[in-house]
Amino acid sequence: MTFSLCPICSVPGSPYYQISHKNRPFLLCLECTLIYQEEMTLPSAEEERTRYELHRNDPADEGYRKWLHSFIHSSVLPWYKDGRILDFGSGPHPVLSDLLKEQGYPVVSYDPFFAPQWPGEHDFSLILLCEVLEHISNPLSSFRKLCSLASEGTVLSLKTQFLTFSVFDSEGGKDFEQWWYKEDPTHIRFYNPRSLRILGERSGWELVSEDGSSLAVYKKAASLKESRSQ
Ligand SMILES: [Zn+2]
Repeated sequence: MTFSLCPICSVPGSPYYQISHKNRPFLLCLECTLIYQEEMTLPSAEEERTRYELHRNDPADEGYRKWLHSFIHSSVLPWYKDGRILDFGSGPHPVLSDLLKEQGYPVVSYDPFFAPQWPGEHDFSLILLCEVLEHISNPLSSFRKLCSLASEGTVLSLKTQFLTFSVFDSEGGKDFEQWWYKEDPTHIRFYNPRSLRILGERSGWELVSEDGSSLAVYKKAASLKESRSQ
């Protein structure tokens, strides 16, 4: 049996954990320690879209707006100077974009399902991925594309729940088994600071900050050639 390749390192992963009744086998990359769902079992585009339409994203939901305000506080305010912001993966209702616009920020939304026009004519000083990275099947390709919208010094600021246990110490995937975050069927890639750093190194982004829990910040690397491919 062959196992699908790590979407960051292109090496075969090793079996890590199986949610047998849901046919969702997960693999571990021994190089970057990403945990990722086996390629053949990923949700279809239609299943993804249906699920996103169910996500909690009601603009009138006070709790959701509060949650987004805390993201703005932790992930926008410390990094924004001037220029355009890209809300990448803005979802069916771009509530984050709207909140930022209300506060006077120039924001462009992009979402492969709900706002699919690629904003290639712009460059951005700040790129936001708020609970988006865990959904992306080919993060290397996405990060490289985002790099083409960035100038030297552009910041990419993201939120995703990190793997906070050691993937090698977690006996038989016990910690993973109990982890709520994997239960959403559209959450298909799980990161820790090592996998985040390696993802950046291979796509033109330098990881400059992470909080060990859910927040990471990259800057567009000055010297790395975007044409470097592996
Ligand atoms: Zn890897």
